[in-house]
Amino acid sequence: MTLKIQTPTEQHLLERISQFKKTTWLPVVEKRTGTVLNSKFSGIPLLAENEAWPCCGLCQQEMQLFVQLNSNELPVEAQQIFGGGVLQVFYCTNDEQGCEVECEAYFPFAKSTLLRVVDPAKVVAKTLVVSPVIDAFEEKVIITWHAADDYPNCEELDELGVELSDKEAEMLYEQDFPKTGDKLLGWPAWVQGIEYPECPVCSDSMKFIFQIDSEDNLDYMFGDVGCAHITQCEKHPERLAIAWACC
Ligand SMILES: [Zn+2]
Ligand SMILES: [Zn+2]
Repeated sequence: MTLKIQTPTEQHLLERISQFKKTTWLPVVEKRTGTVLNSKFSGIPLLAENEAWPCCGLCQQEMQLFVQLNSNELPVEAQQIFGGGVLQVFYCTNDEQGCEVECEAYFPFAKSTLLRVVDPAKVVAKTLVVSPVIDAFEEKVIITWHAADDYPNCEELDELGVELSDKEAEMLYEQDFPKTGDKLLGWPAWVQGIEYPECPVCSDSMKFIFQIDSEDNLDYMFGDVGCAHITQCEKHPERLAIAWACC
């Protein structure tokens, strides 16, 4: 991690947009096998005893577990963010069948993805030793979270009523705001435009929960160095989405 000293102009800019400052949480991981209840990238998720591993709606193969977040293991301030329980994101990375492209998995609600929140109190956990996923990613257990400040990008600031000059927009980008890499909450690092999905039930904009960036904790690239965002409808918490964009 590089520590950058802020110049007075940079400080002035951050003061100007301070009302939009949010805390983002960066996962600190350890490469090891966790329990089915741990927050983690890849590995064995919490599944019910009588349940099969979630399969892709196109190729029918077991999908990768991209991330699992146990609300009890999140920072205290973020524990209720998706309503409690264990959030799971499954995503098919089968290139032979080209599921990502065929199912347009860059858009929300693709059939080669599954997002859900499991209530651990209602599940008798299945015990699996080996992942059935072909070429499963290496498991990384999230052992803690580091808090960092986060700010919206210039386009989002513009929608919020703050217009930045080109120089200020560049300054923000150079300071890595919004933060790139995997993170919980904060502001999405949009690659294209602002793309909060609409809830299919109420059409409200879905709330940003988690960012999965190309080749950060998962050895996976979304298109050409794209960035994926997990979102949820505040009124319909069962409506969860992953979507991504690249240059
Ligand atoms: Zn598939
Ligand atoms: Zn909704």
